[in-house]
Amino acid sequence: MKTERYTAPKQRPTHVYIGRKACGCCVAVMTDLGDKMTGQAVSEFIQEGLTVERVTFEEYRTQIVNEPGFMGCHHEGQAEHLIEY
Ligand SMILES: [Zn+2]
Repeated sequence: MKTERYTAPKQRPTHVYIGRKACGCCVAVMTDLGDKMTGQAVSEFIQEGLTVERVTFEEYRTQIVNEPGFMGCHHEGQAEHLIEY
């Protein structure tokens, strides 16, 4: 009786990856599931020029989500919208 199946962890994730823009706003979030998806998302953050941080879920829940620019940076609009003078 040895069935080795992958079972998703039922417990809450303990860490979260966040991506910050140069202005400091957190505009991307990926729960750290420790799998391929997570790694892929994080490398996408980096490709978008974001600074990736790994924070505890607690920190995320109590601090990051309360930051003024969280998922709503008003500094320069969308990255594709950068105005060049
Ligand atoms: Zn911003």
